[in-house]
Amino acid sequence: MSSTLHAPQNRLLAALPRRDAKPVLDGCEPVELKFGQVLYEPDTRIRYAYFPTDSFISLMIPVDGTANLEVGLIGNEGMLGSPLVLGVTASPLRALVHGAGSALRMNAGVLLHELGQRLALRRALHRYLHVRMIQLSQAAACTRFHVVEQRLARLMLMTQDRAQMDEFHVTHEFLAYMLGVRRVGVTKAAHALQARHLIRYHRGAVTILDRAGMEAASCGCYQADQDTYEGLLSAPKAVANSVERSVREANAEPIPAFAR
Ligand SMILES: [Zn+2]
Repeated sequence: MSSTLHAPQNRLLAALPRRDAKPVLDGCEPVELKFGQVLYEPDTRIRYAYFPTDSFISLMIPVDGTANLEVGLIGNEGMLGSPLVLGVTASPLRALVHGAGSALRMNAGVLLHELGQRLALRRALHRYLHVRMIQLSQAAACTRFHVVEQRLARLMLMTQDRAQMDEFHVTHEFLAYMLGVRRVGVTKAAHALQARHLIRYHRGAVTILDRAGMEAASCGCYQADQDTYEGLLSAPKAVANSVERSVREANAEPIPAFAR
């Protein structure tokens, strides 16, 4: 089944040059993801890559066989299935749907074929992997140095971006996984943000009341992640063009600009 170029879009795919976007989108099928749906189990073969459009997916790593820690939140800015880009066909992580909604799904074999055919797709996904590596480093520093209330504000902003609305659903259990703290720690931090009139949080339903206030309440990691993404994936033309030149020289073949 082929998909269309119409909204809602996945930003990685939307940034592809038109001549690459069409066949890549034709290789995808639209799917509806349900809250809590498990897309990958650790160490199992990856059958599909997912490009969320208005859904979002949590990546969890099992710790000591009992606990889980959330290590990634993928929405329309990204893709699920990064190992495929590196030629690895099993995921070490558990992936489950955190925000119900739509996504474009691509068979792993089709993605590998397209990666082999399309430099623009390869470049976009390599850059995305690089962004994810920087963001994971940022997250490691965040966990070590920033307090739970700041981290919760950051997490809620990240979730709001991916949910693409001011109200979204996130359980206490998920927040505890995501922050790597006990549920009582989540409660305390959420109460503090509510007392500052930044959010409303009741029975898992979050409403962001003051976006600017939440950005101020978050640690700098939220903005750092935004800057990393925008700098590398919505790259200024000058940077993109200089990379294009290098690649063109190396491949002796004209390559369309990767720019939004
Ligand atoms: Zn931080």
